[in-house]
Amino acid sequence: MADDLIIIGGGPAGLTAGMYAGRARLRVKLLEKAIPGGQINSTSMVENYPGVEPISGAELSARMEKQAVDFGLEIVQATATLVSRHSDGFAINTDSGDEYRSRALIVTAGSAPVKLGIPGEEELTGRGVSYCAVCDGPFNRAREVAVVGGGDSAVEEAVYLARFAVKVHIIHRRDRLRAAKDIQEKAFREPKVQIHWKCVPLAVLGKQGVEALRIRNVKDGSEYDLPVYGVFFYVGLKPVIPQGLSDLVQTDAGGFIITDENMACSTPGLFAAGDVRSKRLRQIVTAVGDGAVAAYSAQHYLESS
Ligand code: NAP
Repeated sequence: MADDLIIIGGGPAGLTAGMYAGRARLRVKLLEKAIPGGQINSTSMVENYPGVEPISGAELSARMEKQAVDFGLEIVQATATLVSRHSDGFAINTDSGDEYRSRALIVTAGSAPVKLGIPGEEELTGRGVSYCAVCDGPFNRAREVAVVGGGDSAVEEAVYLARFAVKVHIIHRRDRLRAAKDIQEKAFREPKVQIHWKCVPLAVLGKQGVEALRIRNVKDGSEYDLPVYGVFFYVGLKPVIPQGLSDLVQTDAGGFIITDENMACSTPGLFAAGDVRSKRLRQIVTAVGDGAVAAYSAQHYLESS
């Protein structure tokens, strides 16, 4: 029998949608490809979730998962490989070969790190090149590392990396950081952090592992090699869109799903929430808000259709 609701993605938006759907006593399943939590699992410390003292991303997501499951959410470990519409709702095929059917669908598949595509980046991924300081930071004890980007992720994780590394070089293409001011202040206070303003990375150098990062100063055109053991890229996020879904939704120029304020997509019964959605502010607090609204909207759709 088809479920009332399937949720694709187990980050904060999906877990919150699952919790609200469970409380509404819907028959609901959440499909998650890895460990529930999504991007926050690779966030060292969450300091801006209201009412919660600074907490590791992994701990916060574990708490969200438990709360949702306690309210009746069933979590299935599977990757959605194909989404399609059928007469009574939606069909979701997964990598395990199973097909799940539901009358309503919430997509909370989140986002993935953008790759710059410079020489050496792909070849040395896992051998010094990383997109996750929490995962790979401890391998850089007493070494120098580089962080590429000037947003919240880059600057926050650069400060975290200073726990292990002897020096953290932030490579940023402009002369001002994009990160929130309080995050910037932490970086400016950390003596191990050095910011290379108006610089872009050209190539990651090394054979067995990272040996250096080649950099160009865009102001004067000079180039130099920075001897580092690790390079962490934080140059933005791109949406994760399961195959088949793009036929059922509208997207913005960046590929993020466009919804109305009720999280409804252009196909009836289909909703999107969290980082995968087109919006200005991508935070845990906005993801959980989206998730709650999406579940509420799905409940109303199910009751009225
Ligand atoms: P982001 O805000 O999009 O920042 C990406 C950074 O990479 C920017 O500084 C950008 O430079 C730089 N960049 C982009 N393309 C580049 C290129 N081709 N070459 C060199 N540099 C490039 O991404 P993010 O930091 O991962 O954050 C994603 C979202 O999550 C944001 O909404 C952020 O607020 C949120 N977030 C929040 C927190 C928190 O609240 N604690 C923590 C992490 C992330 P420019 O500045 O010049 O554009």
